Amino acid sequence: MRVRFWGTRGSLPTPGPTTVRYGGNTSCLEVTSSSNALIIIDCGTGIRLLGQDLLARQRTPLRGHILISHTHWDHIQGIPFFAPFFTPGNEWDLYAPKGVHRSLRDTLEGQMQYSYFPVQLDDLGARIRYHELVEGTFEIADVTIRTHYLNHPALTFGYRLECEGATIVYASDHEPHARDLANGRGDIVGEDLQHCQFLSGADLVIHDAQFTAEEYPQKIGWGHSTVEYALALCRAANVKRVCLTHHDPSRDDDGLDRIVAKARAGAQDAAPEIEVLAAIEGSAITIEGDRQRRRSTAHDETAVPAAVGLGDPLIVLDVTDRLASDTLLNAAYADQIKVLEARSQEEVVQAIGEKTPSLIILERKQGRPDPLQFCANLRAHEATRDIPVIVVADTEDPEAGTAAGVTDWLIRPFSSAYARTRIRAWLLRTRIRWARPPLPPDEEQRLATLHSLNILDTPAEQRFDRLTRLAAAIFAVPVALVSLVDRERQWFKSAHGLEARQAPRETSFCAHAVVARELLLVPDALADDRFADNPEVSGGARARFYAGCPLFVGRSCVGTLCVLDVRPRHLSLDQIGLLKDVAGLVERELQQGEGQTKT
Ligand SMILES: [Zn+2]
Ligand SMILES: [Zn+2]
Repeated sequence: MRVRFWGTRGSLPTPGPTTVRYGGNTSCLEVTSSSNALIIIDCGTGIRLLGQDLLARQRTPLRGHILISHTHWDHIQGIPFFAPFFTPGNEWDLYAPKGVHRSLRDTLEGQMQYSYFPVQLDDLGARIRYHELVEGTFEIADVTIRTHYLNHPALTFGYRLECEGATIVYASDHEPHARDLANGRGDIVGEDLQHCQFLSGADLVIHDAQFTAEEYPQKIGWGHSTVEYALALCRAANVKRVCLTHHDPSRDDDGLDRIVAKARAGAQDAAPEIEVLAAIEGSAITIEGDRQRRRSTAHDETAVPAAVGLGDPLIVLDVTDRLASDTLLNAAYADQIKVLEARSQEEVVQAIGEKTPSLIILERKQGRPDPLQFCANLRAHEATRDIPVIVVADTEDPEAGTAAGVTDWLIRPFSSAYARTRIRAWLLRTRIRWARPPLPPDEEQRLATLHSLNILDTPAEQRFDRLTRLAAAIFAVPVALVSLVDRERQWFKSAHGLEARQAPRETSFCAHAVVARELLLVPDALADDRFADNPEVSGGARARFYAGCPLFVGRSCVGTLCVLDVRPRHLSLDQIGLLKDVAGLVERELQQGEGQTKT
């Protein structure tokens, strides 16, 4: 892979005589893979010259990929000036972390409104596709890319690129999780250790080093690393070369020279050896891969696909229950999966004869031939031995199912979102990691209590909104809810940071807390078998962290006060205590009823 720097400055472009050597343009770099795939990382002002260079280099339509670390201005402000976006025939794929409130497209559109810029996003001539990512891995041509959340005020990704055994990591706009590590000393633990693992063994790490340890005490919370932190983590991660970037706008060329000289002197004294560079606008670095190491570090067991490709699957469906089959059809269409509807087992056999399906879905129902016997017959034949067979039923019959070779059961009723997740899991032959919440034993009594409050579907009230606002501020999370779990939905009496007023019970974290009747803490939903495939985690709100404290009215648990974040988090015992305190205040409001404490 070859890396070329087009913008190395953080925060603000700083052209001028004191920045000529390291450069004044904001973040942008170009990566060319072994197979010549073009990957651009970040779109600061440096992308303008890259665009002109690309047009000069290549006469044929351009095809490229752009990875955006986050949508702070210094990482996207060059987009309106990137000439290859204006040429019809060019094709670009844009990737960025999936935000909570706005889509990538909306965010980019914002900086091109008429009051800021004369050309609108829709008027760009090139074809642009937007991809919103979560933590995981995906591929562009011969490059495997892994994303990892960084510690920054905006939702930010680091990108790890692996190609033919060569590894480059781009980790800009990241602050040490443990502030003590800013001086480069101390034990690397917790989330800093995870960051270290993300850098692990890379041939080149391009790392945020906006500040020095000396400057850091005045810059705490700004979301940036120190030179000392970048070096300490890269050394611990056995990185071969570290390239410091996101240079502070106030740093002149001589200042950067001094930083590099000092870092190199420090690097010589300690083992393991590490080469230190500072990113220079216009410079290029070529990384030769070690083929032995190929793909050894990109994949670990916790990696989940950032974008899932299902190939060209075909489902043969033999389900007469209208509701169930419609739900399954919707689920399949949502993923553009072809479905062949059969009306009998004979038609299933006929369909198999024409093309091997990826999945067969049968139905166990009174008055219809036994699907288990049919499944056992399929298993007896070479051609159909391995096709996954799913049985839709009212109850599971695991023993008989296993004996007949049934792959899995789908129990009625189920939603389209649930069916879709299951279908994906079956097609990808992965485990489903989404548990629908069970019903609590006192469900009817609980619902009677909830309904007797006469609170469902009432307008928002300050007395609740101020408590969710408070909870969001205490835990520094984007979302805090007073969530009431109704028969088939959770309804939000107050929703700080969320536009929706309700969500299906099936995807609800709170419904799990209501069954448990105690505080439910999910530090990282992607690492939790109950929630990893939940659409609110894999899509929707992209929830990664959840803490919900049950709300009781009498002996009935009616819902929760909960806080959510899009990044993994932990709560200390003190914080758990605070969450319970706020939940106590919400309970008091629920019990007092409307209007009692209005101010
Ligand atoms: Zn930045
Ligand atoms: Zn930033």
